[in-house]
Parts: sequence; structure tokens; C-alpha cells
Amino acid sequence: MKNIRNSRREFIITTGKAGIAAGLSLASIPALAKVTASGHFTGAVEEIPWAQQPLPYAYNALETMIDALTMEIHYSKHASAYAKNLADAAKAENVDTGKISLVTMLRKVSGYSAKMRNNGGGQYNHEFFWKSMRAPLSDNGPAGSLQAKIIKDFGSLEAFKTQFSDAGKNRFGSGWAWLVLGADSKLSIGSTPNQDNPLMDVSELKGTPLLGLDVWEHAYYLKYQNRRADYINAWWSVVNWDQVQKRWDAAK
Ligand code: MN
Repeated sequence: MKNIRNSRREFIITTGKAGIAAGLSLASIPALAKVTASGHFTGAVEEIPWAQQPLPYAYNALETMIDALTMEIHYSKHASAYAKNLADAAKAENVDTGKISLVTMLRKVSGYSAKMRNNGGGQYNHEFFWKSMRAPLSDNGPAGSLQAKIIKDFGSLEAFKTQFSDAGKNRFGSGWAWLVLGADSKLSIGSTPNQDNPLMDVSELKGTPLLGLDVWEHAYYLKYQNRRADYINAWWSVVNWDQVQKRWDAAK
């Protein structure tokens, strides 16, 4: 059995993308864990389309932590505007969105306009954020290999949560808090201003994003007003740890 497994794995490695094209099941092959059959990950990073995607749940799905009106305005007004302005910028700057992925553009965003940077980040960050959440669960937290890695790199789950929450609370003005996997294979936490993200060449914080939290006032003001810390505390119960685990599996 071991020999069969080994030879199958070697076959996959040597055939590379041809193996994928042939429709082979990739789920049980560690060597190719970075490329899922559904194609949502390229290399280590979660790909996000250039255009706004349907919200993966109803506006009221995250009640009572995030209210339905906030979600509706956030998705249908704020995030939708980023996607529209991104399409305009891509057209104006002759970016062939059928050939260049959003991630590829973001990695070289210093070569594009401020409009492209703000709205490309806005599109990526919001799609990433929607997928980072799900309906509140009473028993929610990272599990398995991700949990072990978080404890290894931060000391404990509590220390991780505190550090991440602080990154969100202390971001002055508008921006995002992030958990990223760095090139040194270590997890780290930081924040970015405005709609910047850790994929951008202009970002001080760099790495593969695993979890992102929107701390713009538009994400919480209707329900929490000036109490950003209360929003962040509530947000932990809607984190979609299955999605974070998928990102970790692809990135590690
Ligand atoms: Mn937002």
C-alpha cells in the first residue's frame, strides 16, 4: 500500500498541472494541497475575483453581533462602490482582468494609481472579510493544526486574541487588522491603513492573509457607535474558523 501511495504521489508531482487538468482528486495529496480542485487558491494565497460576489449569507445571518442594516449598507453600498470603482480603474489603466488576477495586481500595486490601490484593496479585503465570518457559534475557535500553530507562535489562544484585538483597537482612523503567515513561516499580527492589505508591495505588514477584520466605522457604527472594542469582542463569535483553516492549509 505504501508503495502504491508513493508512486501515485510521484506521478502527481512530476505531471504537475497536467495531473490537475486530468481531473485527479487532490484532496488527499499533501504535495498539492496548495492548489484546490475548486481553484480558489493559487499557490498559497486565496484568490478573489475582480467583481463583487454574492454575499455568502443573508444580511441578518450574523445577528446579533453584526446587525442586518449594517451588513446591508456595508455590502450593497460601501463594498459595492469599491468593486465598481475598481472596474473603472482597471479599464482606465488598461488592465486585462481576464488575464491578470486581482492578487497579482495587488502584489505590484505601487505601479498603479491610488484609485486602483484603494479600490483593489477594498474589493479584496471585503470579499475576504465576508468569507471570514459565519453565523455565531457558542463554541467557536481554531482547531487542529491551526490551533497548534497559533499556540506555538503566540503562546496561547488568549494571547493571540488579545494581540489581534489590540491591532484592531489601536489602528488609528480607518483600516484593517490581520493575521498573516510570513515568509519566515511564522504567524504574525498587524494592521493596515485605509484599504491596504498585506499582499501589497507598498504595505509595511506583509504576508499571506489568513484572517482580516474591518475596523472602518462603517463596519460597526450603527450598532456600536464609538465602541470599536465592543464590536471587536463580539466579532470573535462570528469568525469562520473553517475558512481560516483552509487558508492556513493552502499557505503553510
Ligand atoms: Mn468595510
